[in-house]
Amino acid sequence: MRIGILGGGQLGRMLALAATPLNWRIRVFDPAADAPADVIAEHIRAEFDDPVALARFARDLDVITYEFENVPADAVERLAQGGAKILPPPIALVVGHDRLAEKNLFGELGVETARFASVERESELPNAVAAVGLPAILKTRRMGYDGKGQTVLRSPDEVANAWSMVSGQPSVLEAFVSFDRELSILAVRGRDGQCLYYPLVENYHDGGILRQTIAPAPNVSAELESVARELARRVLERLDYVGVLAIELFEVNGRLLANELAPRVHNSGHWTIEGAQTSQFENHLRAVAGVPLGSTQLVAPCVMLNLVGAIPPIAEILAIPSAHLHLYDKEPRAGRKVGHVTIRREVGVDLADSSVRLTKLLADGIG
Ligand code: AMP
Repeated sequence: MRIGILGGGQLGRMLALAATPLNWRIRVFDPAADAPADVIAEHIRAEFDDPVALARFARDLDVITYEFENVPADAVERLAQGGAKILPPPIALVVGHDRLAEKNLFGELGVETARFASVERESELPNAVAAVGLPAILKTRRMGYDGKGQTVLRSPDEVANAWSMVSGQPSVLEAFVSFDRELSILAVRGRDGQCLYYPLVENYHDGGILRQTIAPAPNVSAELESVARELARRVLERLDYVGVLAIELFEVNGRLLANELAPRVHNSGHWTIEGAQTSQFENHLRAVAGVPLGSTQLVAPCVMLNLVGAIPPIAEILAIPSAHLHLYDKEPRAGRKVGHVTIRREVGVDLADSSVRLTKLLADGIG
């Protein structure tokens, strides 16, 4: 099996690592020489608008997948025209890189979201504010991730500046949700239509960046779990999806509001490497390759912490019982995810104690 991945970031790297025991070959396409997947996989280094490089990338591949949703549409179209099989289906990219399309899809499927209004141009902002109310968040429709391309509007005098804060890009104004907590659901659908779900997890963000995932999320009723699965199933089936899909959710008074979807493996699923029978990375590959999916059952509860902006001394991380360290081979920079650590409950391991030690280590190193 030869699998191509558009993008060679840490997600591409971890997909390539998961492919190795299966003896599947991975080729990534990424413009960056220092792409994290470079040392693990064959790397076609070129711009996405280079047709010759795209053809070289696609040659002899069984299937092409992607690890970020902002893959330029033209590149995907060119690959499809050349006869490449692209999974998840490109429609998932069209939805996944446009917040408005995402929200409209959720609406069509009867999945609740925060109140929102489309803001194509600055003149539409006052009406949107009147419809949605304050506080609200203005988010660019495209290219926003890790809290980028968004600004919170708390009071009417913050409205005047808001448009420049999103660089005048077509945006969505969204009601600010006073959520009880943030959850996400990861699901995987095979080529044969089989859908499997990982347990709901609880996420903590800071500055729009995921910092911590607790898996499974504590205090989740069977009903909440089934509501989350049902909404994921609707999205998977509507898109005739193949692969891993993540949906970020807000829990408010026992209700779930969908925030956004990611048509790919997801940071809130990194714990599955140690904590689930089959990792999200292996299951994504199995799905797009068209072989049976692996069990998504929990092996043991986990806490996953991201390393953002700095890497604490490795020996100190590894001294923490059951700390599983993953580094992405990235230069630390402010706000940049450079690795993660998963702590798994094991015999003789106090999950809470190890998590506190790790959190303290990260706080000391990063501030
Ligand atoms: P996003 O880029 O949409 O994933 O937003 C990043 C983070 O900002 C989310 O995980 C939340 O912590 C916060 N956030 C986004 N949208 C809202 C909202 N409508 N209300 C409250 N917090 C939000």
